Amino acid sequence: MKALILDGYVDEPSCLGVPPFISPYPRFVYGVLKSIGISAIYTTIDRFREDYKLREELKNFDYLFIIAGIAVPGNYIGGKPLSKREIFGLNLAKRNVLLGPIYLELSKKDVLSLEDASIEVLEFPFERKFCEFFGVEFDLDKFLIAGAEVVKQHPEFPNIICEIETYRGCYWAKCSFCIERFQKIRMRDPRNVVLEIKALYDCGVRHFRLGKQTDFFTYLADFSYDFPKPNPEALKRFHRVIWENCAKIRTLHLDNVNPKTIAEYPEESKEIIKTIVTYQTPGNVAAFGLESADEVVVKKNSLCATAEEVMSAIELMNKFGKATGYNGLPTLLPGLNFVIGLKGETKETFEKNFEFLKSILEKGLLVRRINLRQVKIFPGTPMEKEGYGRLLKHKRYFNAFKKRVREEIDNPMLRKILPKGRKLTDLRVEIEGKISFARQIATYPILVGLIGEYKRQTFVDARIVDYGYRSVTTVESPINVNKANLEQIRALIGSRAVEIIKRRPFKSIEELENLVEDAKLLFTV
Ligand code: SF4
Repeated sequence: MKALILDGYVDEPSCLGVPPFISPYPRFVYGVLKSIGISAIYTTIDRFREDYKLREELKNFDYLFIIAGIAVPGNYIGGKPLSKREIFGLNLAKRNVLLGPIYLELSKKDVLSLEDASIEVLEFPFERKFCEFFGVEFDLDKFLIAGAEVVKQHPEFPNIICEIETYRGCYWAKCSFCIERFQKIRMRDPRNVVLEIKALYDCGVRHFRLGKQTDFFTYLADFSYDFPKPNPEALKRFHRVIWENCAKIRTLHLDNVNPKTIAEYPEESKEIIKTIVTYQTPGNVAAFGLESADEVVVKKNSLCATAEEVMSAIELMNKFGKATGYNGLPTLLPGLNFVIGLKGETKETFEKNFEFLKSILEKGLLVRRINLRQVKIFPGTPMEKEGYGRLLKHKRYFNAFKKRVREEIDNPMLRKILPKGRKLTDLRVEIEGKISFARQIATYPILVGLIGEYKRQTFVDARIVDYGYRSVTTVESPINVNKANLEQIRALIGSRAVEIIKRRPFKSIEELENLVEDAKLLFTV
């Protein structure tokens, strides 16, 4: 028996699987297939689009498992997710099965059309159904651990970051637009999470994100309270055991944190922030769901946290997380999510959102990333009745708001977080060109324009010389003065670059020191 696991990528409120991220889903599927003796190949949709031979061979495969679903769309550099339209052309193996959050986007008619095209669709979350499909007993931990080795087949291995699930569901589960309402709370035993991380680590993975949960601060919390009470001691132990088992991890980050938890439990949260600062790696971002700073919108959409609560969470996280780490970025900062097009939104909502952001800047607080998302409506959520009317009506307000945020908030914030001259380490080149584009392997990595031509997948350290709205321009650092081009030298030292080029080659840095301040910092020979 032969199967292909085709990763069309996922992006959910609490899970990312667009390269360099790999979600837990293909690892789980591989683990189940392995346990019943089905040999499986894994590939990504980007690689598959170019692989005509594999497409041809698929008719001899018993199964094609397609994983897909972009529930919270973003702009992706690492890959182009599988589109709904493309899926219809994937009836290529003897049995073709569609898995993942894509299910939540499909109407009954879509499902019937796919079935007519010989593509079966499994309900989401699919793991239990997937086990039933093969008549094996459901065991999330066992199959995630057993399936770890599939990561070696990822086209970008070992430069990938594994999304790790700690728990499922949301204690609030009421926000009008959110699909987390469809999941029940299910906490994973931390021993199994560590075993999974260790299994991936033993395969060569060095980058991890504890990202697949709605609120990292309530992992292992006491859920008998109205708002779950965090357990700082348990989280500290959890981190310690990860490092005892996997001492050479290079990235350990997190994703979502519910600011309501921090506002309700500041003392416990303070301890958790300190643990994260100590045991996770710098450049970390805790994405906070504010969604709207307008109290009317908060109420009408049953949003979890008020603007005041989110502000108090931002303040606490800044207090302990804003120091710069060894890779050039602050250790731990909050990120902010806004959702546009919700019930009760008016022109004033945009003003209130902007005022909220402005007050963050005025208070001297730092926020690493501001995500302005237009609502995506899913069947079964309260937003279904509302539809996209308000979003369309407010399009021009949204565009103006976005422009203002990018110009008046993002850009000055970026300059504060990453001042000129700051060195960023371990930038992985993803796009080649006269200006190459690179990012750190991290949660919400900053996009870095790197002056000069570099091959994909090379790693470079570089210094900041300029800014875009949400990106920085850099030059490799230190760079060989005898090989660097005029643009690179000019970006570092200005108009004296021409003279430096004329005087090349330099035999030593000392020779250069007579002409350039900080020569040792910027150049090698
Ligand atoms: S707090 Fe609201 S937006 Fe966040 S995961 Fe829960 S239901 Fe979804």
